[in-house]
Amino acid sequence: MAEKDTPAPAPENGEGEAEDAEDPEKKKELVELPPFEIVTGERLPASFFKFQFRNVEYSSGRNKTFLCYVVETQGKENQTARGYLEDEHAAAHAEEAFFNSILPACDQALKYNVTWYVSSSPCAACADRIADTLAPHPNLRLLLLVGRLFMWEEPEIQAALKKLKAAGCKLRIMKPQDFEYVWQNFVEQEEGEAKAFVPWEDIQENFLYYEEKLAEVLH
Ligand SMILES: [Zn+2]
Repeated sequence: MAEKDTPAPAPENGEGEAEDAEDPEKKKELVELPPFEIVTGERLPASFFKFQFRNVEYSSGRNKTFLCYVVETQGKENQTARGYLEDEHAAAHAEEAFFNSILPACDQALKYNVTWYVSSSPCAACADRIADTLAPHPNLRLLLLVGRLFMWEEPEIQAALKKLKAAGCKLRIMKPQDFEYVWQNFVEQEEGEAKAFVPWEDIQENFLYYEEKLAEVLH
């Protein structure tokens, strides 16, 4: 398997190493960090996209959530921010990290149109967090597009997705065009012009499969 799901980020010119060598306390601190991190950035590596966003029915090995966001803030001046978050394993999930670090507070005088493109639908705890954040903030709108449904057979998850919908969240399965949008807007491109998006063989079939399942859950 050439494509691992967690390629190590390239070290930056070894500058950090030199600093750490001079400061043993700092190095110790780094070593003791938990094996979990939230990574943020503007564009994700193409290999991450190809593996993590693929809308397969069996998502073994895909134990991370990738969340690409567009935040349009409407006020006196309109602003658009975009970027991505990824998580791994437990602790804070990408969805929670979004509300902790990207949009920690809503200004009542502004309107927020938020769009997420997420590799899979949220777990029950994150769905609750999203619903609880949306409910008291009518000025915050969230369109949530997901590549796959996560454990949608579970009653707990089904209840959580219904709660999301009731809180005003628009939940959709990513269509082939949405994957292409993510490819063009959130994936690192080699120098020069963007590479064309190459859809995988069963992209449309899998989209239809998940769309049907979502409709069954939310009906
Ligand atoms: Zn979660």
